[in-house]
Amino acid sequence: MDCLFCSIIKGDIPSAKVYEDETVYAFKDINPMAPVHVLIIPKTHISSMNDVTPENSAVIAHIYEVAAKLAKELGIAENGFRVVSNCGADAGQTVFHLHFHLLGGKKLKVEMC
Ligand code: 5GP
Ligand code: ZN
Repeated sequence: MDCLFCSIIKGDIPSAKVYEDETVYAFKDINPMAPVHVLIIPKTHISSMNDVTPENSAVIAHIYEVAAKLAKELGIAENGFRVVSNCGADAGQTVFHLHFHLLGGKKLKVEMC
């Protein structure tokens, strides 16, 4: 299967790694929308939120733990930050490997839709 983020996890495509453990990988977004813009992804290929099931959902809770840890380490926990996952065409998902954007370091626009 040809997946950009699976290739990044394997190291076939370079990335600016921020964090890694057995189940999660985090790296800087190539086109940052904020001073801190990190993508946090499961190492297992899950295409989008549409494919989250009782069998694979534990990694999502872990991703939120990692997001909280990275927010502290990257100095954005106190002022605030946002975690976003786009699912499907209407949300503007462009890479179909589930990912969570960790954004902060500036006053973010409050736009829910
Ligand atoms: P989406 O639009 O699917 O929610 O987010 C995909 C994100 O992946 C975008 O913010 C985009 O900048 C980022 N991205 C796309 N290709 C690459 C890449 O090759 N390397 C990195 N680090 N980020 C990428
Ligand atoms: Zn993948």
